[in-house]
Amino acid sequence: MTTKIIHFQVNGKLEKAEFGSDCSAEEVTDLFRAAAEAGPHHVLKMYNREGTVMKISPRLEANGRESYYRLEVVASDLQGVAKASDLDDMEHRLQQLEIRVLQDVGGTPDTMSELKSHVDSFKRKLESVEHLSWIGLFKDDNGDQRLAMSPPKPRTPQLSSQEERQKVRRKFLNISSLQVTEEVRELLKTPIFDNWQWEEAEMLVLLQQMFTSLDFLTAFHIELEVLQNFLFEVYCHYNNIPFHNFQHGFCVTQMMYGLIWLTDVRNKLGRTDLFIMLTSALCHDLDHPGCNNVYQINAQTDLALRYNDISPLENHHCAVAFGILAKPECNILKNVSSEQYRHIRGGMIKCILATDMARHNEILNRFRSIQSVFDFSNKEHKEVLMNILLKVSDISNEARPMAVAEQWLDCLLQEFFNQSDTEKQKGLPVSPFMDRDKVSKPSSQTSFIRFVLLPLFSELIKLFPCLEQHILEPVRTALEYYSVMEEASRDEEAPTKP
Ligand code: 5GP
Ligand code: MN
Repeated sequence: MTTKIIHFQVNGKLEKAEFGSDCSAEEVTDLFRAAAEAGPHHVLKMYNREGTVMKISPRLEANGRESYYRLEVVASDLQGVAKASDLDDMEHRLQQLEIRVLQDVGGTPDTMSELKSHVDSFKRKLESVEHLSWIGLFKDDNGDQRLAMSPPKPRTPQLSSQEERQKVRRKFLNISSLQVTEEVRELLKTPIFDNWQWEEAEMLVLLQQMFTSLDFLTAFHIELEVLQNFLFEVYCHYNNIPFHNFQHGFCVTQMMYGLIWLTDVRNKLGRTDLFIMLTSALCHDLDHPGCNNVYQINAQTDLALRYNDISPLENHHCAVAFGILAKPECNILKNVSSEQYRHIRGGMIKCILATDMARHNEILNRFRSIQSVFDFSNKEHKEVLMNILLKVSDISNEARPMAVAEQWLDCLLQEFFNQSDTEKQKGLPVSPFMDRDKVSKPSSQTSFIRFVLLPLFSELIKLFPCLEQHILEPVRTALEYYSVMEEASRDEEAPTKP
C-alpha cells in the first residue's frame, strides 16, 4: 500500500492530508470534508495552481508543499436561497397591489389571498432555517465567517470570539472592585431578578458577589484572583447557543442563591453543602452543545460514545467543571483539605448528574418518600434535597416575572427547533416537543407546568412553605396565561359554525 500526500489550503490555512491507496472515494471525500469543517450538504471543490477543478478521489495527484491545491466549500443546498428579509420587499409590493385591487374590485380575490399565504408560509420557512446560523449553516453577511456545518459535538458551536472574551475579562476585572448596590444585592436574592438587564462582565461581578456574600472566600480560603479566574473560565466554557449558554448558567445559579436566602437552608445545611449547591448550579450545563441526550445517543456522538449513553451531557458538564478546577490559577478548591475536596467533588458530581431530566421521576419520588420525615441531620436526606434544589433552579424560568420568562421560552424553543431541524436533516427520530410543526409556546408550557413544574415545586414547598409566593404563585399565573392562549388558538383553529 502506498501513501499519498496532498498539500492544500483551506479556510486560509495550509494543511496536509495523507491517505493510503486503498482508501475508498468516500473516505477521501470525508477526509477533505472534515478538513474544511463542511457538513454533509456542502459542496467541496479542489483547485490546482492553474485554477482547474480537480476531482476529489483516491486518484487525486500528489503534490508538493509549494504547489498546494486550494480547497473551497462553494455551496450548500441551503445556500443561494433568498433571506427572509428579501421577502419583506416582495410582501410590501404585494400589499401595494392588494390596495389597488381592492380599489378596483372592492374585495381581495381568492388568488390574491392564496398568493399572500404562500409568501407568508415561505417567509416562515426561511426564518426557521435562519435559526440554524448558530451552528454555522449560513454564511454571515460579512462573508468572512466560515461556511462550515458540522454535527454538534463538544466545543464546535461558535464560542464567543477570543477577542470578545478578553473584552469581557477586562471589563469584569475593571468593575469587580465596585460595590454592588444594596438594591441589586437584595434583588439577587429573589426570583424577580431580571437577568436581561445585565451584560456578561456584570454577571461575573454578580457571581463574585454571591460567592463572597455566602462567605465562601473565608470558609474555603479562596483568593479573590483565583475566584475571578474560575468565574471567567466558566463563562468561556459556555457556548454561544440560544438556551444553554452562560446566561442560563447564571440564572440557575442566581435562583439557587435566591432559594438559599429565601429559606432557612442557610442555617440548616453546612457551608460546604451550600458551596456544592451554588458551584454545581454554575457549572451544571458547561459546554452544552445545544442538542439533548436523546440526540447525542441517536446520533452516536463522541459524548454518547465516551459515556456509554449514560447521561452523556451531564457527565460532560461535570468533567468540564473539574477540568477548569484542575488549572491551578482557577482552582478555588486548592486550599481545602483532601478530605474536604473529595466531599465537595462527590457532592458536585451527584448534583450535576441529577439534572438529567430522564431521572426526574426517580429523584422526585425519592424526595417524596422522605419529605414527611425529613431530617436535616440525615446525610441521605440532605443529598436528595440538594439535588431537588438544583433541579428546581434548573427549570425555574417560569417562576420569574412573565417578561423575563417569556424571553427564555423563546430561547428554549429556538434551541429545540434547531435540534429537530438537524434531526430531520440527518434522518434521526424527532422528539415531538421539539418539532416546529407541532409545538407552540402555550402548548409547550401548559403541559410542562402541569406535569413537571407544579408537582416538583409543590413537593419542595411542603418542606419550605415560605417559597409558595416566590415560586409556586408565579408558575400558577403562567399556567393560567398559557392556558388562555392555548384555548384561544384552539378556538381559532376550530371550523366556524354556519
Ligand atoms: P437542562 O437541559 O437545562 O439542564 O434541563 C432542563 C430541561 O428541562 C431543558 O433542557 C428543557 O428540556 C426542559 N425545560 C426547562 N425549562 C422549560 C420550560 O420552561 N418549558 C419546557 N417546555 N421545557 C423546559
Ligand atoms: Mn440547565
